[in-house]
Amino acid sequence: MGSKSDRIAVTLVCSACGSRNYKTSRARRPDAKAVELKKFCKTCGAHTLHVETK
Ligand SMILES: [Zn+2]
Repeated sequence: MGSKSDRIAVTLVCSACGSRNYKTSRARRPDAKAVELKKFCKTCGAHTLHVETK
């Protein structure tokens, strides 16, 4: 339980311009929703919604 293999790496992509700005990880759960976070995008020059991608 809680081993590192239970986490998967995801990339956070700006939903406004598509820049891949952040890497993170989250628990591997089949029922998990895609991560959505407000992050600063230097391409947009503003905080935008970032969503996970593989
Ligand atoms: Zn952006």
